[in-house]
Amino acid sequence: MKIAFIGLGNMGGGMAANLVKAGHEVRAFDLSEAALAAAREAGCSTYPTAKEACQGAEAVVSMLPNGAIVKSVYWNEVIGHAPEGAILLDCSTIDVATAREVISVTQAHGYQMVDAPVSGGIAAAAGGTLTFMVGGSDEAFARAQPILAAMGKAVIHAGAAGNGQAAKICNNMLLAIHMIGTCEAFAMADKLGLDAQTFYDISSVSSGQCWSMTSYCPVPGVGPVTPADNGYQGGFAAGLMLKDLKLAMEAAAGAGAKVELGEHARALYEAFAAGNAATDFSGIIRTL
Ligand code: NAD
Repeated sequence: MKIAFIGLGNMGGGMAANLVKAGHEVRAFDLSEAALAAAREAGCSTYPTAKEACQGAEAVVSMLPNGAIVKSVYWNEVIGHAPEGAILLDCSTIDVATAREVISVTQAHGYQMVDAPVSGGIAAAAGGTLTFMVGGSDEAFARAQPILAAMGKAVIHAGAAGNGQAAKICNNMLLAIHMIGTCEAFAMADKLGLDAQTFYDISSVSSGQCWSMTSYCPVPGVGPVTPADNGYQGGFAAGLMLKDLKLAMEAAAGAGAKVELGEHARALYEAFAAGNAATDFSGIIRTL
């Protein structure tokens, strides 16, 4: 299949390479020359503009930083340039309202489109083990599914347009809350004279168990190897967690949802990310 791929950054670079490995002809574009060179190395053909990458493409995949950029790329570079009837897949993490608007406008121009944000970081993008949460019609999902399956281990239909983004921000708000809770529990255990490994051994098989503890433990040397064992480098940057929490708070306000702990988590990550934006989000334990 001829697939245009727009946005070849930390995530998009690996995803485009996996589409090549699955036998697709990938027509790639990014504003960064270094990203284009890496994409060529991975077997993509590259183009001077997104418009040209979209020419003749049966599908367009985008992996871009934010909603404003997604909107501008689809308005100016995709609509009218990708052939009518192409399936469009935006895998960026953006706000629910923009995702719904872009899908509705592209549909009015004769395309089918899904929002398909991902869970899993750069390693999962490179290894083809992302989880995709997909919003869109049954027909659009059926067309998008095999393309996404070439880049991930799970592709889940979350419902109508925008529901992929809704699932993503609800999930990441929950992640932020249980990561902070896990950090507080370890810090308090320490102050009470309880050894971190002993607390882990108890809590990981008790009712306090959660993913932040047993899969992403914020304490170095405890549990599986995590960014904590690497000075809180790599992993999921605090700045990206803050971006997702802001999107979650916007969506909650729009929907009238009560998210007191989510709001508190946003405030704590806002304070932590100032000066630590590139640090893994589990590094928030250092502030306790
Ligand atoms: P990144 O900044 O590494 O990559 C974004 C790429 O988009 C860059 O290469 C940039 O040059 C390119 N770009 C920007 N404007 C463009 C334009 N107008 N046309 C073409 N290319 C353009 O970011 P990333 O880490 O790859 O993240 C991409 C998306 O994935 C974000 O929405 C992010 O929230 C989401 N995400 C990231 C992670 C992660 O761990 N990095 C995990 C899950 C989801």
